[in-house]
Amino acid sequence: MADKKQNKRNNNNNKNYDDDYNPRFRKQRKKVCALCSDKNFVLDYKNAEQLKKFVNDKGKILPRRTTGACAKHQRDITTAVKRARHIAILPYAQN
Ligand SMILES: [Zn+2]
Repeated sequence: MADKKQNKRNNNNNKNYDDDYNPRFRKQRKKVCALCSDKNFVLDYKNAEQLKKFVNDKGKILPRRTTGACAKHQRDITTAVKRARHIAILPYAQN
């Protein structure tokens, strides 16, 4: 009985490992954080052109999976964008 249960669990695990043919997870290139890779990159909330890279056309802050920013720098980006919105450099929303 115990062996049968164990086998069933193992089979399920094997099934999950076969998922690598799934096209959704294929050819994922590792994104590098723009702020980590460039040492001279200084995030400035007064620089609208720079912050526009981290905001979509609706004015929303892009997620980490899109920008590739690391957790630390995504936090910096978020505060910078919010500060820029407060001083009306970036829009809160568009359209
Ligand atoms: Zn980073």
